[in-house]
Amino acid sequence: MSRPVQFNINPKPVDREGHIGVVELPAGHIGDGFLATKMSDLVGLGRKNSLWPQPFATSCCGIEFMATAGAHYDLGRFGAERMAYTPRQCDVLMVMGTIAKKMAPVLKQVYSQMAEPRWVIAVGACASSGGIFDTYSVLQGIDQIIPVDVYVPGCPPRPEAILDGLMKIQDLVGKESLRRRNSDHYKALLGSYGIE
Ligand code: SF4
Repeated sequence: MSRPVQFNINPKPVDREGHIGVVELPAGHIGDGFLATKMSDLVGLGRKNSLWPQPFATSCCGIEFMATAGAHYDLGRFGAERMAYTPRQCDVLMVMGTIAKKMAPVLKQVYSQMAEPRWVIAVGACASSGGIFDTYSVLQGIDQIIPVDVYVPGCPPRPEAILDGLMKIQDLVGKESLRRRNSDHYKALLGSYGIE
């Protein structure tokens, strides 16, 4: 199975569990009826388990996504069953399929209509790099017009790979600093795409 690749974040040290950021609590931070934690961890926990995907499927990879959302693979296990087809209510843009250059402004508009914080997965070779369509009419990767957080390789990627990509997004979301979206680094990233 192809493994996703993640971009646009600063590398974070892997914790001891390798997955969940659990550390020993200092004395006095836990007791009967209370638990002390960081606000960003609490917000991250809520966000990562309530992702709302906005599918943007233009060709064959979209069929794999349909399988991912079906009963067998069950995308809903991740609290992500609430797919919406309005960008104003979604926080994960999943781009699946070949994006023609004529379609590029539409995709950029959909991204622009999503509220912050928002994340993007490029599903499949076409969305990631243009795939086999090295032609004048096909966008050679959606990261030419919008920032991408996770790339899922494959032509098409299997549903397991798409789920793996979504879990990568969950990792990013859970560990993201609440300050990131207001940082100069992030503003510069959006600015490089001509997005306010
Ligand atoms: S990556 Fe392959 S399967 Fe996916 S849209 Fe492109 S040609 Fe179709």
